[in-house]
Amino acid sequence: MAFPLRKLELRPLGNTGLRLSCVGFGASPLGNVFGAVSENDAVASVREAFRLGINFFDTSPYYGGTLSEKMLGKALKAAGVPRNEYIVSTKCGRYVDGFDFSAERVTRSIDESLARLQLDYVDILQCHDIEFGSLDQIVNETIPALQKQKEAGKIRFIGITGLPLEIFTYVLDRMPPGAVDVILSYCHYSINDSTLEDLLPYLKSKGVGVISASPLAMGLLTDNGPPEWHPASPELKSACKAAAARCKEKGKNISKIAMQYSLSNKDISSVLVGMNSVKQVQENVTAASELALFGKDQEALTEVEAILKPVKNQTWPSGIHQS
Ligand code: NAD
Repeated sequence: MAFPLRKLELRPLGNTGLRLSCVGFGASPLGNVFGAVSENDAVASVREAFRLGINFFDTSPYYGGTLSEKMLGKALKAAGVPRNEYIVSTKCGRYVDGFDFSAERVTRSIDESLARLQLDYVDILQCHDIEFGSLDQIVNETIPALQKQKEAGKIRFIGITGLPLEIFTYVLDRMPPGAVDVILSYCHYSINDSTLEDLLPYLKSKGVGVISASPLAMGLLTDNGPPEWHPASPELKSACKAAAARCKEKGKNISKIAMQYSLSNKDISSVLVGMNSVKQVQENVTAASELALFGKDQEALTEVEAILKPVKNQTWPSGIHQS
């Protein structure tokens, strides 16, 4: 297959001035979150990502208990691309031993992440899964602590991530404009759940950049299916399995249809997909190139949407109740 079929589209991220490749490299698989990945495969995947025009890489100290950050750091170094040509996002507040969004912990966390990533700064630092902490602490303590690190030049932009969409409005309604540059939402803009769509006009009005993660619904929309730990209901899992099987029967690939669905909304700056092999990088970039050239496979999408209709927008609980 000849690559690239077409230059991967870059999209602006809110008011940051950053332009992210529409396909972003989710590095949680490099922490062995979806099964073991060798260092060779990690390095080769990142190298291929650069070659095909991906410029955005996302990780967290939580993924694989810091392994993802270490592997991504090694892979970025091995690729040898000038630092100003790529965008790295990592996170703070969520660790294998629990959550801690205190100013002291997140400040220390940035230095630890920079050391593991072998970088002097990260482009985006995000508070990770804030629904597990006190949202008032995020507003009053965590983000102000990150602003100090922004001034110190260790991070360029600040973000928040999590599953329930209400967390974003809660925080953004309480922060001055420009305090939060970006949000990362996951599992809410894929074929089975598109509820992020309703929030996009609000985010745009705030000048906040939008990253949408998990276009394959953390493995639900793949031929291999989700990992053991996947929190979806049995009903949702079996509907996705049926949709994947139907695609296969028709000689189609559900992951490609899912990628193209998520990439179609240009108010989303980057669709972050978890990747652990050169093949997956090639397939996901090809999905984007073919979308740009030929548009969506509407017939296959309509059929998948019909199978998933009974479970459309079904999600799962995440986080603690806010007082
Ligand atoms: P995903 O929907 O991207 O699915 C990843 C799974 O799909 C992995 O098993 C991967 O190997 C597989 N896959 C990738 N491309 C494929 C292809 N072409 N064909 C078949 N299988 C393919 O889910 P994800 O990895 O959880 O999400 C993407 C990234 O977004 C993460 O790596 C992480 O960086 C980020 N993320 C952040 C948060 C958060 O901040 N709270 C939550 C979820 C995801």
